[in-house]
Amino acid sequence: MTGRVFDASLYCYDRVEPSYWEATVERPAVPSLLQDETTDVAIIGGGYTGLSTALHLTRDHGIEAVVLDAGVPAWGASGRNGGLVCIPPAKSSIPEMVGRWGREATEAFYRWAIAGCDLARTLPADEGFDVRAQGDGNLQVADHPSRLAGLVEEAGHLTALTGVPTRVLDRAAFAEIGHGGTEQFGGVHVGVGFALHPLAYALGLLGAASRRGARVYAHSPVVRWDRDGTEHRLITASGSSVRARRVVVATNGWTPDGLRRGLDARVLPAISNILVTRPLSDAELAAESWNTETAIVNARTLLFYYRLLPDRRLLFGARGDTTGTTAAADRMQVWMHRRLGDLFPSWRGIKVDYRWRGLVAMTRRRAPSIGAVEDDPCVHYAFGYHAAGVAAAPMAGKALAESIALGAAAPAIPAVLRGLPGRFPIAAMRRLALAGAYLWYGGRDRLQELRHSDAD
Ligand SMILES: Cc1cc2nc3c(=O)[nH]c(=O)nc-3n(C[C@H](O)[C@H](O)[C@H](O)COP(=O)(O)OP(=O)(O)OC[C@H]3O[C@@H](n4cnc5c(N)ncnc54)[C@H](O)[C@@H]3O)c2cc1C
Repeated sequence: MTGRVFDASLYCYDRVEPSYWEATVERPAVPSLLQDETTDVAIIGGGYTGLSTALHLTRDHGIEAVVLDAGVPAWGASGRNGGLVCIPPAKSSIPEMVGRWGREATEAFYRWAIAGCDLARTLPADEGFDVRAQGDGNLQVADHPSRLAGLVEEAGHLTALTGVPTRVLDRAAFAEIGHGGTEQFGGVHVGVGFALHPLAYALGLLGAASRRGARVYAHSPVVRWDRDGTEHRLITASGSSVRARRVVVATNGWTPDGLRRGLDARVLPAISNILVTRPLSDAELAAESWNTETAIVNARTLLFYYRLLPDRRLLFGARGDTTGTTAAADRMQVWMHRRLGDLFPSWRGIKVDYRWRGLVAMTRRRAPSIGAVEDDPCVHYAFGYHAAGVAAAPMAGKALAESIALGAAAPAIPAVLRGLPGRFPIAAMRRLALAGAYLWYGGRDRLQELRHSDAD
C-alpha cells in the first residue's frame, strides 16, 4: 500500500505513543488475527469510528463484526486526542455553511453533532464504563482583542440555530470562570460538550463491543483487498484474512492511498501535537487565575486547545508541522513550550512530562463524510472529523451501523455529511497544500490583529 503523506515515524504501528493517556489506563490484551475468518461486516480501523460501528452492529442489530487494526485498538487519534467533546466537526462558520448547504441542512448537521456530545455521556453510562468526565460545556477564548467580536457573532448564530446556550464573557468574567494570562481578552462559554479521557472512551467501546461478540484484532494491518463474487476478502500482513459481505473503512487520518479505489486522496491529514506538564500546585494555578476544568480553545484559525487534567497537569495542544519527522516534532515541542510560557508567564519553562502527536483528518468539503462507495454499496466509510471526532466519530459509527442494518429505513444522514468529498492532490503534494494553508491561515490571523491595531 502506498501514499503515506508524512514521515514514516508517524506510522509505527508496532508501538503506542508515549502519551499521558497510555500512562493512566490499563490496556486489555488483544490478539492478532492468525486464522482466516468469515463475518457479516469487516471493519478496517479500530478507533472510535470502527469500534462504535462494531458495537452498534452487534448490540443493536444482531449483526456480526470483525475489527482489524494495524496497531492496537485506538492506536490512532482515538487514543491520542485532547479529549474535548465539542462541536462542530467542520471548518466553516455557520453563515458559510448556511450559504453553501441552506439553513435546514446546517441545522440538521449541528443537531447530529450535538447528539454526538450526548452519546459521549449516554453510551458510557449505558455500557457501565467511566470516561473520567470533566468540565461543563466548552470555553472559547479571544487570544487577541480583534477576535472577540467573531466569537460572539458565531455564538449568536449557534444559539439562534440550535438553542444551545452561549454566554459572552468579558476579560474579568472569563478570568473568574476560566483563566487569566496574557492572551485572554474575553470569550464565550458554549453550553454543550465536556472533556473526557479519550483512551478510556475508546477502550470502553472496545470492551462493550467485545462483550456483544465483536471480534477485534490488533497488529493486523489490511495489506490487500480482494473481491470474490459477492464477498470481500481482506488480507492482513500475517497472511490471515477476513471474508465479509460488507466492509467499513474507518481509518480516518491514517487512510493509505491504495486501500480502496474511490477513497484515495479524499483525506488531508494534519499533525496535531500535545504537551502535558507536571502537576500544578494551587498557588501556581492561582497565579494565572486558573479556575476551571472546562476545556478551552482559542480563536486563532490555527488554534491552541488546552485543559486541566484530573491530577492538575496542563494539557496543551496545537496543530503544526507539515513533514512529520522526529526533528520537526522536537521543534514543535520547543515552539509550543515557548508559546505556553507566553500565554501563562508564571509557568514559563515548566517541566513537560509527556508529549506526543497524531493525525487529524480534513476534507475538501470542510466537514465529515459518511456513506458507501458508488461502485459498491457494500463498502462503507466515515472520516474527516476536522479534529472534533470525539463526539462525531462514535456518532458516525452508529450511523454506519444503522445504514448497514436498516438500509433505506435507517435515519437519514444529514446532507452535509453524505457522500464523498472531492479529492486532494497526490500524497506528496498534500503536504505542500497543508503548508500553503498554514501560511494563509497564519497570515490571515496576523492581518486581523494588524487591522485591529490600526483601527485603535
Ligand atoms: C493530537 C490530537 C488531538 C485531538 N484532539 C481532539 C479533541 O480534543 N477533540 C476531538 O473531538 N477530536 C480531537 N482529535 C480528533 C479525534 O481524535 C479523531 O477525529 C477521532 O479519534 C477519529 O477516530 P477514527 O476512529 O475515525 O480514527 P483513528 O482513531 O485515527 O483510527 C484509525 C485507525 O485505523 C487504523 N488503520 C490505518 N490503516 C489501517 C490498515 N491498513 N489496516 C488496519 N487498520 C488500519 C489505525 O491503526 C488507527 O487505529 C484529535 C486528534 C489528534 C491526533
